[in-house]
Amino acid sequence: MTAHFNFDNSYARLPDAFHARVLPSSARDPRLIALNRPLAGELGLDAGELEMPEGVEILAGKRLAPGSEPIATAYAGHQFGGFTPRLGDGRAVLLGEVIGPDGRRHDIQLKGSGTTPFSRGGDGRAALGPVLREYLVSEAMAALGIPTTRALAALRTGETVLRETELPGAVLVRVAASHIRIGTFQFFAARGDTESVRRLADHAMARHDPDAAGAAQPYRAFLDGVVARQARLVARWMEVGFIHGVMNTDNMSISGETIDYGPCAFMDAYGPETFFSSIDRGGRYAYGNQPGIALWNLTRLAECLLPLLGEGEEAVAAAEASLTGFAPAYLAAHRDGFGRKLGLMTPAEGDETLVGDLLDRMAAGKADFTLTFRRLCDAAADPERDREVRDLFIDPTAYDDWAGRWRDRLGGEAMDGAARRAAMRAANPAFIPRNHRVEEAIAAAVAEGDYGPFEQLGRVLSRPFDDQPEYAAYADPPAFDTGAYRTFCGT
Ligand code: AMP
Ligand code: MG
Repeated sequence: MTAHFNFDNSYARLPDAFHARVLPSSARDPRLIALNRPLAGELGLDAGELEMPEGVEILAGKRLAPGSEPIATAYAGHQFGGFTPRLGDGRAVLLGEVIGPDGRRHDIQLKGSGTTPFSRGGDGRAALGPVLREYLVSEAMAALGIPTTRALAALRTGETVLRETELPGAVLVRVAASHIRIGTFQFFAARGDTESVRRLADHAMARHDPDAAGAAQPYRAFLDGVVARQARLVARWMEVGFIHGVMNTDNMSISGETIDYGPCAFMDAYGPETFFSSIDRGGRYAYGNQPGIALWNLTRLAECLLPLLGEGEEAVAAAEASLTGFAPAYLAAHRDGFGRKLGLMTPAEGDETLVGDLLDRMAAGKADFTLTFRRLCDAAADPERDREVRDLFIDPTAYDDWAGRWRDRLGGEAMDGAARRAAMRAANPAFIPRNHRVEEAIAAAVAEGDYGPFEQLGRVLSRPFDDQPEYAAYADPPAFDTGAYRTFCGT
């Protein structure tokens, strides 16, 4: 029996300039590596059907599901500050949009299913390692409660792809609220095609900002919505030590989901200048630069929307007013988020200073970001447990002075110790996808065909806030952090 998808294809119904119709190329011998059953359920898909040979062929792009109208979407983008007018889906095919039982619309996209008219000399394929990385890290983000594209499935294609060496080929089945990027707007704006910018804005508004359509200035309200979502998203990244790594405008989703897990990584030791991507010379996309880069990207979006925002000066003023909303939205989200992490549930004067001072001391003391905050949960309820936190700092006395001021501040909160500890534990994960664990899982799969470590790591990361005593080692930083960890873009 063929797996049933409740497809609608609203993006494929947009004019020809928006996409190219293309069939995924058939994988030779597709094998399912992982199927995300809970996600399949949310989408109204039958996991049992998807695991059958025909279901696997659909997920690998070898067979077309009834109702699917596959396309590769057109987009442009600023990559590391330089503009490329034509990028597009060069190694991805959008099968269609599935309407879930809750009425929500989700793109189903195959990543690594062969060339498209946007491949520009690339092979359109994905290697196994990056597919497993995206599966693990995007699902970890979802479990952390951070808006993100999801991974429905990972498959081997039975083919090899040529990178620096021959590697097993794979496909990731990605689920997203949409794949509309800032770069999608830039694609049309760069051609002076205002009519298409308007069509795209109307489409995106209907999907992501339905209330904006009824506003006095719908396109201004739409831009405000995108700005607010990006501000909140980047604040969430900062709260967990996530470094996206390739915040090009083509990798910034209008929906406010995290998208593109190529060179991303979580920090171990805290340092605002940390970056991992091997091609990010100068650290443009370092941890501490992420809010500023988000605003830079949103400014590019606002430029695209200028013709829709009014005449001349009026349009510029509207765009500037919208962008001015970024900083307060980001700072409020950051204050709330880090306040929760420190057990400061009712905001008070001086909280930002307290947070900033801790982070400065963590940077100087090379304290592990995730462990510091997790251990503070116990210290909040029992000062005896300070020892476990201060041990994380090169100079533990740097913590002591701060901890005294933190305790004074906590005294002004109504909560008792146990409730505070519980609230803080819900804001401070024990488990993040540590780089050495992700690499270990990928290496076992690629070199030995052993998916055990991948599956085990995925299970631990699906419950990031629970103590899992039997897997305590997954919460540990690497034994020797040389600071030399590097990530690579190519899928
Ligand atoms: P990314 O690094 O994922 O943001 O991709 C940047 C651009 O390069 C996009 O247009 C991709 O579709 C394209 N691209 C990346 N890898 C490949 C590949 N193996 N084959 C074809 N196009 C690719
Ligand atoms: Mg990308």
